[in-house]
Amino acid sequence: MVISQIIFNVILLILIFFLLRQIDKFNNLKRNYSTIIVLQKIMEVLGKKVSSKEKLEEINKIFLQDYDIMLSTIVSFSGDEHKVKASNVDPKHYPIFENLSEEPMFKHNCETNVPKYVTASSGTSLKYTEAEERGIRSVMFLPLFLDEAYAGYWLLEDTRPNAFDRLEKVQLSILKNNLSLILENSNYQSTIEKMAVSDKLTGLHNRNYLYSKGEAAIDKYAASTVVMFDIDFFKKVNDTYGHDVGDKVLINVAHTTQKYLSEDDVFVRFGGEEFVILFPGKDIGVCKLKIEKIREVISSIKFYVTESKTLNVTVSYGMSTFQQGGNLDAAIKSADVALYRAKQNGRNRVEVA
Ligand code: GH3
Ligand code: MG
Ligand code: MG
Repeated sequence: MVISQIIFNVILLILIFFLLRQIDKFNNLKRNYSTIIVLQKIMEVLGKKVSSKEKLEEINKIFLQDYDIMLSTIVSFSGDEHKVKASNVDPKHYPIFENLSEEPMFKHNCETNVPKYVTASSGTSLKYTEAEERGIRSVMFLPLFLDEAYAGYWLLEDTRPNAFDRLEKVQLSILKNNLSLILENSNYQSTIEKMAVSDKLTGLHNRNYLYSKGEAAIDKYAASTVVMFDIDFFKKVNDTYGHDVGDKVLINVAHTTQKYLSEDDVFVRFGGEEFVILFPGKDIGVCKLKIEKIREVISSIKFYVTESKTLNVTVSYGMSTFQQGGNLDAAIKSADVALYRAKQNGRNRVEVA
């Protein structure tokens, strides 16, 4: 009787042991499955034709929903600056650590008592912005690396204690590696996006930018002004002093012009030694006064070819105005016609279409 009881108990124990193992396996499977689902969602976002910032914002949302995280911020370093790439935190309370150009010590920590300061690897203390005021009780800091260099961080915060205990190390490392890749992809995409609308020589925007941003900029106003200008006898500058001197003149003309423009004005290198300025919502009379001033300033600049030799250049301008709903291309063409007239009438002058 006693023996059969013991045998029964042993069998029962063995059964319970196997059952528990199966449950454990099942939970692991479930966790791995949910990670796969998250990764699949991330891949879908990566394939979308939206800006890199929008991609990171969507990915941030996936983390928040699928892992039940309250606050998440993805920061990347560009130069010495911190750049928030995605966050669901009130912009006034971005938990950005000042001067955090090196890895702080509290990575991978889950804490119930959130520190007011964190220590960087060099030993300096960095203020953890308003952690207490925001009621943060759990925090997890995950450094992100690009080409083995510390390139940013992913900060998870929660007002519940021990909120990240349920996140497995494996899950986190998979997500972290993916996030690093996304950051790389996003930096790369931003560079490409910038390159597509910039002019390398002058640092100005190019023609693509004018057409992509210009239409929206002028749509808001009843009337706008367009200016096209071209350096006079520029071929002669190149032929006489060389292409490098020509380049310097081109850059100087661009930068001098830019000094007289405001942030709302759209100024682009249209091609070669031709530039276009779009003055959204500005009256042609006011713009003409400004352009006359710029023309005068440029004609008085002494460009140094050698220490003792200088040269002067002049610029011709064509202006046109157009009404809301008008065609930007047509306005540029009529400014070009006016520019042609300025050349015909002796150069170093402004003509209105
Ligand atoms: P006009 O007064 O009629 O405008 O005469 P121009 O000689 O300036 O006109 P043209 O269109 O014949 O010559 C423009 C020159 O600009 C030709 C080209 O070699 C030069 N150019 C275009 N892009 C660049 C550039 O990026 N750098 C330099 N150095 N020259 C350039
Ligand atoms: Mg020219
Ligand atoms: Mg030209």
